[in-house]
Amino acid sequence: MPKVVILGAGLTGLSAAYHLEQAGFFDYQLFEKQDRAGGLLRSFQQDGFTFDFTGHLLHISDDYFRTFLQTTANLDNFNFIERKSGIYLHNQITDYPFQMNLHGRDASIIYECLEGFINRSQSLKKPQNFYEWVLKYFGKGFGKYFFFPYQEKILSFDVKKLMPSWTGRFVPQTTLKDIVYGAIKSKTGVGYNSSFYYPKQGGIEFIIKKIIPQLRNPLYLNHQTSTIDVVSKRVHFDNGNHATFEHLVTTMPLNTLLQQTTNASHTTWHQASSKLLCAGVLNFNIGFDKEDIAEKQWLYYPEKQYPFYRLGFWHNINPTSVKQGCSAIYGECSYLQGSKTMKQLEQLEHNALGKALETLKLTKDNIVTQKILNLKHAYVIYDQWREKNLLKLLAHLHEHNIHSIGRFGEWKYSSMQEAVLDGKKVAEQILTQLGHTPIKRPRAPQQTKGLVI
Ligand SMILES: Cc1cc2nc3c(=O)[nH]c(=O)nc-3n(C[C@H](O)[C@H](O)[C@H](O)COP(=O)(O)OP(=O)(O)OC[C@H]3O[C@@H](n4cnc5c(N)ncnc54)[C@H](O)[C@@H]3O)c2cc1C
Repeated sequence: MPKVVILGAGLTGLSAAYHLEQAGFFDYQLFEKQDRAGGLLRSFQQDGFTFDFTGHLLHISDDYFRTFLQTTANLDNFNFIERKSGIYLHNQITDYPFQMNLHGRDASIIYECLEGFINRSQSLKKPQNFYEWVLKYFGKGFGKYFFFPYQEKILSFDVKKLMPSWTGRFVPQTTLKDIVYGAIKSKTGVGYNSSFYYPKQGGIEFIIKKIIPQLRNPLYLNHQTSTIDVVSKRVHFDNGNHATFEHLVTTMPLNTLLQQTTNASHTTWHQASSKLLCAGVLNFNIGFDKEDIAEKQWLYYPEKQYPFYRLGFWHNINPTSVKQGCSAIYGECSYLQGSKTMKQLEQLEHNALGKALETLKLTKDNIVTQKILNLKHAYVIYDQWREKNLLKLLAHLHEHNIHSIGRFGEWKYSSMQEAVLDGKKVAEQILTQLGHTPIKRPRAPQQTKGLVI
């Protein structure tokens, strides 16, 4: 029996495996339900275009993450790109972030945002929800034109029931000086995503393809869990195989994990699984036979009449992803998980494609290639239930040596950087518990088998 079982070969699971191996620990097995590793970091080639499972851009703010990427994938293989994104509102495009770039908006919007900011509800001591948080830090106008409609769209969830705890670095705060300055002249280079890296070739999956060969142990693909017995510490897979563990690292969605546990002393686990809310994303990827269909790299669409919340333009992010003389987009529409029938999702897809063509002034005849993906887990919803119960749930799992980590394992809003750091952290914790030497830094691989089973 392996000491450690890892579930899921997305970036988090691969990072856990990588860091175990870097410390000279190989007594683990990594299982993945798909026939290919990568999770959300997969890419695909179609008719001369490369698409991701929706746009994935690399933001590096952590030194270790930079070292990790340099060691595994070599940053020379990436382009470093300054952000050029905007907000499409009232048929006008202005720079992102909205709160610092009122320049170019109608005078009435500028007035409402400024007036709202000056008179914002600063007296609200601790905002109870995202709605109040916006009123406290940005005021009514910014809420009305961007934050409320955009957040409701991306999460398909009421902003008055949404907790503000996820905002942190994701929503840059501002001052009156910055707002006034931004109303006179656009201010770029603001926020956590003001610049980014993207692989020169192969889409975001390039990273995964560089990590896998550095692993000595094989990956067990086509292994989807069916049940996880927390007492006998045994994972059963749909294909009839099983594996027992001393420590389980799971990166599968927490709600699925809780549904699949058996013999849990905490009978609430199964009930809890249905309380964890999440938005899925319909991701449409289209190649067009026209060049330069947009100037920005991506645009946010807060208005209801657009079924999508964002359109990204590959030709402005990475021209090698796009066939010569063409353009390509990724579009994203969200829906609350479990709230839509297949037919309703098809309708959403249909409406979104129609509206994308209309707004880009293109027709179906311009389409060279298209593929629509349904990402069932995309955005975790920070509602009150999550706020009260999540940490307790994760702690209960921990009592059974079950480490649920990553964006969906820990049920959080997080990036690729955090996925790598989460994998590293759990490897260090487990190695400490097992009495192994802690990891100091990544080193060049000893062997490069990268077997995939
Ligand atoms: C719409 C969207 C846009 C994003 N854009 C960015 C971005 O621009 N920049 C950025 O840094 N981050 C971005 N992210 C976040 C990024 O995708 C995640 O942080 C990261 O991919 C999480 O990796 P993970 O391994 O934790 O999860 P996943 O990639 O979901 O991997 C989990 C793995 O577990 C496997 N699995 C699931 N269930 C089972 C099971 N029952 N049995 C076995 N295996 C199973 C899955 O197949 C998958 O391979 C974005 C996310 C979304 C949803």
